[in-house]
Amino acid sequence: NNIVVAIDGFSSCGKSTIAKALAKKLNFVYIDTGAMYRAVTLYFLRNEVDVADEKQVETALNNIHINLKTTDGQVSILLNDEDVSEEIRQMHVASNVSKIAAIPAVRHAMVKQQQLMGKSTNIIMDGRDIGTTVFPDAQVKLFMTADPKIRAERRYKELVVKQPDITMEEVFENLALRDHDDTTRKESPLVQANDAIVLDNSYLTPDEQLEFALNKIKP
Ligand code: C5P
Repeated sequence: NNIVVAIDGFSSCGKSTIAKALAKKLNFVYIDTGAMYRAVTLYFLRNEVDVADEKQVETALNNIHINLKTTDGQVSILLNDEDVSEEIRQMHVASNVSKIAAIPAVRHAMVKQQQLMGKSTNIIMDGRDIGTTVFPDAQVKLFMTADPKIRAERRYKELVVKQPDITMEEVFENLALRDHDDTTRKESPLVQANDAIVLDNSYLTPDEQLEFALNKIKP
């Protein structure tokens, strides 16, 4: 049987940093499920899908094809063959994604694809509901947390390089809003799985985080 490492937690806790490092070290496939929800959101925004209209949502989901591609440790996300890796990090996507991700039909479609992706290869998958819903039997589950201020600072530094107009307040508010939406939605809300190991990375360096996680995966 293949191995599944599930990493869940709040926005900008450093899930993808640790997930990428683990995937590289263990030679597992890294799957960024947040990027999938962001790509769906981008499609909905571009095509002005009315989220209150179930038929429109269903048609949109049938027309969305998402692929993740890893080249030299860099993950690209393809939406209907177009590389949208940069656009999905923009604020207009970030400020709409948790509403779109709360739609049950959207979640069902994504979860189904994610389960297929992790069926026959060893994977590291990060998101909000991986250890609870997508792979409740994952061999290793990490739940990441970090101080909200530290999270916002880190995310701001990351984003400002390519989006110089962005402000710290905007980033902080967006994280708080997404955490709220993610923890309060009806369909598979963000909660810590009973058997998850908590990793608070407020004051850990990437190397320390990696060591912590590796110890949990290979005791
Ligand atoms: O991980 P990232 O911050 O890029 O995720 C963007 C958004 O996608 C989250 O704020 C959340 O609303 C949604 N998401 C989700 N379930 C996942 C992964 C992400 O609802 N498994």
